[in-house]
Amino acid sequence: MKFCPLCWTPGTTPDPMWTNPRAQFCCLCGTQLISRCPNCSEPISSMKFRFCPFCGWSYKAKNKAGQGFDWLSCTFLHLSRLNA
Ligand SMILES: [Zn+2]
Ligand SMILES: [Zn+2]
Repeated sequence: MKFCPLCWTPGTTPDPMWTNPRAQFCCLCGTQLISRCPNCSEPISSMKFRFCPFCGWSYKAKNKAGQGFDWLSCTFLHLSRLNA
């Protein structure tokens, strides 16, 4: 089970491209797909999870400050990366 921490919105169905066994990187932004918790390396067992049940880590990429998650600025950041 893999997904892009930038493009995937927790709780939604992931892009089928990400779950392709050969896919290693996001087809939309080039970010490396993750299949394990970046914090404790426990496998991600459900796409419905937003946080790691083992350590509480947010599967969604953190913003620059690393505290909490700013949905709006992340979307802008992502869009500007796509347009660059
Ligand atoms: Zn992506
Ligand atoms: Zn974890």
